Amino acid sequence: MTANDVNVTGVSWDLNDLYASPNDPALRRDLDSAAERAAAFAAKYRGTVNVPAGPSPDWIAGAVAELESISEQAARPAIYAGLLHAADVRPPAHGALVAMTQERGSEIRNLLLFFELEWIGLADEPARQVIESETCRRYRHFLASARRYRPHLLSEPEEKLLEDKANTGSRAFSRLFDELLSSLLFEVEIDGEKQSLNESALLALLYDGRRHLRQAAARSLTQGLEANSLVLTFIFNTLVQDHAVDDRLRSYPDPMASRHLANEIDPATVEALMIASEEGGDVAADYYKLKRRLLGLDELWDYDRYAPIFPETAATGWQPCRELVLSAYHDFSPRMSEIAALFFERRWIDAEPRDGKRGGAFSASTIPSVHPYVLVNYTGRARDVMTVAHELGHAVHQYLARDHGYFQCDTALTMAETASVFGEMLVFDRLRRTERDPRAKLALLCGKIEDTFATVFRQIAMTRFEQHLHAARRQEGELSASRVGELWLQANARVYGDGVRLTEDYRWWWAYIPHFIHSPFYCYAYGFGELLVLALYEMYQREGRSFVPRYLDLLAAGGSEAPTTLLQRIGVDVMQPSFWQLGLRPIRAMVEEAKELAASLT
Ligand SMILES: [Zn+2]
Repeated sequence: MTANDVNVTGVSWDLNDLYASPNDPALRRDLDSAAERAAAFAAKYRGTVNVPAGPSPDWIAGAVAELESISEQAARPAIYAGLLHAADVRPPAHGALVAMTQERGSEIRNLLLFFELEWIGLADEPARQVIESETCRRYRHFLASARRYRPHLLSEPEEKLLEDKANTGSRAFSRLFDELLSSLLFEVEIDGEKQSLNESALLALLYDGRRHLRQAAARSLTQGLEANSLVLTFIFNTLVQDHAVDDRLRSYPDPMASRHLANEIDPATVEALMIASEEGGDVAADYYKLKRRLLGLDELWDYDRYAPIFPETAATGWQPCRELVLSAYHDFSPRMSEIAALFFERRWIDAEPRDGKRGGAFSASTIPSVHPYVLVNYTGRARDVMTVAHELGHAVHQYLARDHGYFQCDTALTMAETASVFGEMLVFDRLRRTERDPRAKLALLCGKIEDTFATVFRQIAMTRFEQHLHAARRQEGELSASRVGELWLQANARVYGDGVRLTEDYRWWWAYIPHFIHSPFYCYAYGFGELLVLALYEMYQREGRSFVPRYLDLLAAGGSEAPTTLLQRIGVDVMQPSFWQLGLRPIRAMVEEAKELAASLT
């Protein structure tokens, strides 16, 4: 399939709402003006926030409004440069603009940084008076949540030392990991020809219909990781220990505490989510037994997990994709569909695959005074249609939350995937209801089930693995690759049960997951988001139309409150362990439906 076959050629975005071109004088003017305003801000406010009697609410309200306005002005050029670069990474001018705007952005941020430090340093009582004042109402969550790091901050000279040394410490090891993995080439024989593939091309082979190819790809990945085991194991040990040192210096009670704080979520809620997911996980083994039968295999091995049930045949053109997504959105809420339609009508979406364009997909919220921009690489596969539904979900969320301003429009990580996954559900549900061909319907269901497993059970297992990894490093000292492999197999065996057999190779597959390196304990947020959306979708099915305005309010609230507060408002209590069952139920129902469909086919 090519871009021409699906009529997506020429579907590119128009960045004029940010700047006319890289040479637009307005871009330099914004940077110069933001720098001047930042210097004036520092001259006016430095030393006036953390004062003995506390600052007046008026003073802080004025300061935060100005700070937000400067920050937005300073961000605009860097955001434009980032989008320009994503659309075509090749012209050196694009890379240079990214670097220039980042450097100028850092300069401006450094001038402004004192404000947050003084605010966090202020004693609790005077801070409370400001936070609870009517004058600062608009910035309440911003002001309150900045202070959650207060118990964990060190003195200014200590913070500076840690910041400086991190570049040759933990950040250097993270970068070594990235550079090592992106330089690895994996040998695979395809159609009698030996090929050297990079990691993403190799992993794509795990979705191939030909079993010998999947098997060869799995083997080759293992060999590549094993050959670099000395460096990879060393990086893991170092970073896990570095995390422990940080936790000790900053008085975090356990390895997950800093992540929970960043996510604005309490540890008991996360543990309830993890236990519910683990206890409900037997549905995975159940499903993989069905998949084994559908593929006609004696055993389903780890390299068979992503095998297609049937080969994909017809592509979906760009226009039919647009109509499908918009009408599925419209059935739920005309307002949502109207907003999503703007992205097509006003060229806020870049969809054609092009040389030099970044892979993958995203929705960039940009700044509240403009609007989001969406990037996808559309080739007409069923997966691509879901990606469009996903990114437009993000886009609608970001668009609706703009009123809260630059500091409070973005949601916490745990809520960030709500609208995107919900958007996918709307399109999936529409297809499920209208698809007449039982084989196509079964393929659709299996795809959704496997995606859901990957974001719920697999991510929770990875989080459990990380917990055991950090605990083992603290108790046993430096860990060998085989010990890490043992912990990895244990955590994964629990997901697949007797549904999937794990090869000896699989014991190495912890070693290429970037989340463990870059953002420890990140993975549970995926499980949180997916189960939350499945539960919200159940509510919608049950309550019908009355659910819609509450859902739109939830999106429009953006990051103006903590996730638990926002969810309570819509009638969701994530603190209740039973809540997560609501999200698990539809997963079981989908597996049952797949079983019935499969039975009707034979
Ligand atoms: Zn997303």
